[in-house]
Amino acid sequence: MSHKEDNEDYNITFMGLEKLHPFDAGKWGKVIHFLKEEQFITDGNIVEAQEATEEDLLVVHTKRYLNRLKWSLVVATITEIPPLLFLPNFLVQRKVLRPLRTQTGGTIMAGKLAVDRGWAINVGGGFHHCSSDRGGGFCAYADITLAIKFLFERVEGISRATIIDLDAHQGNGHERDFLDDRRVFIMDMYNRYIYPGDGYAKRAIKRKVELDWGTEDMEYLQKVELHSEGALNEVRPDVIVYNAGTDILDGDPLGGLSISPQGIIKRDEIVFRAAKRRGIPILMVTSGGYQKKTARIIADSILNLHHQDLIGAEAVEGEGSSSLVTHMMSHPGSAGSKFTAV
Ligand SMILES: [Zn+2]
Repeated sequence: MSHKEDNEDYNITFMGLEKLHPFDAGKWGKVIHFLKEEQFITDGNIVEAQEATEEDLLVVHTKRYLNRLKWSLVVATITEIPPLLFLPNFLVQRKVLRPLRTQTGGTIMAGKLAVDRGWAINVGGGFHHCSSDRGGGFCAYADITLAIKFLFERVEGISRATIIDLDAHQGNGHERDFLDDRRVFIMDMYNRYIYPGDGYAKRAIKRKVELDWGTEDMEYLQKVELHSEGALNEVRPDVIVYNAGTDILDGDPLGGLSISPQGIIKRDEIVFRAAKRRGIPILMVTSGGYQKKTARIIADSILNLHHQDLIGAEAVEGEGSSSLVTHMMSHPGSAGSKFTAV
C-alpha cells in the first residue's frame, strides 16, 4: 500500500498526539482503502482533492478569521486537541490545517462534479460547525458554505441549494452563514441535547427535526424519509448538499443516538433515492463519526448506493458521464493534493 493509496493527505497524524483525541483520525484513508479493495475505486474514477487556497477560503472566510488560525491556541481550541497548544504553528499548519484544507478543497471540487454528472462524494469534509468568522467542534473551515457559494458564483443555472444535514449535531456553521440567504433551504436533524445548541443559528433551519437521546432505527428512518421528501417537495433546489455524519451510530461517545450500521446504510439510500427520483444533483460529505468501525460502514454504504444503482455514471439520466473527472485528472501530481471525490 503506497502512501497515495492510503490517502495520507486527508489524515491527521502527529507523533501519536492524535490518539489523545476521541477520534479515528485515519478514517478517511481507510474508507478509500476499503473502496479500492472492493474495486469500486480505480485510478480512473477518483479525483484528487486540491488544497483550498487562501483565495478560495476568502470567498467565505474573513481575513481576520484566517489570521487567527496562525495561533496554535486558537487551532487547539477549534479542533479540541489541547496538546496542539504547545506546538509551533508551522507544525499545526502542516499536520492539522493542511489536511483540513485539502478536505475543504475536496468538497468544493465535488460540488462542481456533482452538478456536472449528477452525484459526487467527498470522503471527508462536512465541517458544519464552522462559519465565516468562527470555527469550533473540530471544524476549522466552512467547506459546505464554500462549495455552495462557488456553485452560485461560478456555475450557470445553480441558484438554489438544499442542505440535508443528518450528522448527530446541529449544523450551526452553514446555518449562520446562510441565515438571511433565501437561496438556501436547510433541513437539519440532530440530537437536541448535545453540542452546539445554537439557538441563533436555528433560525436558519427551514425544516428542523430534533431527536431525543437514544433514538433508534425505526423512528429515525421514518423521519429521514418523511422530512427529506418533505423538504425537497417544498422547494426544488438545483443541488443538494448531504452532510452524512455517522456519529448517529450506536455507541458514539458524542452523538447520543442508537442507529445501527444497517440504519446508516439505509439512511444514505433514502436520501440518494429522493435526489435521483427528482433528477437533482447531490454532493455527499462524510462529516462526524470517528469510531473504529465507522470507516467500514461508510465504505459499505457507498458500495450499497452503487449496488442500488443510485450512483454510477448514469446517476442522473441524460447527464454526460464524467467530463470533469477527466479534466481534473489531466492535471496530476500537484503538490499537496490527494484524494477524494469518487
Ligand atoms: Zn457531529
